[in-house]
Amino acid sequence: MPNRSSKAGHIPFRTCVVCRKKAEKKKLMRFVILDSEIVIDLTGKLKGRGYYVCDDNDCLQKLEKKVVKILRNR
Ligand SMILES: [Zn+2]
Repeated sequence: MPNRSSKAGHIPFRTCVVCRKKAEKKKLMRFVILDSEIVIDLTGKLKGRGYYVCDDNDCLQKLEKKVVKILRNR
């Protein structure tokens, strides 16, 4: 368990992989890529490299294309 007391008041920000906007972590959806499939991480507990996307139709519609690019580049 990380020591939370030293980070009191710190709000974690993450970047949406589609639009590159930064937002509070809790306002973004986390997903991981398992066997080239997008798996939305509803519990925040999935292992592996996590990515974040806005919970927003525009970004979600573009997500699949974006993931194809991520897979090609890694
Ligand atoms: Zn976005």
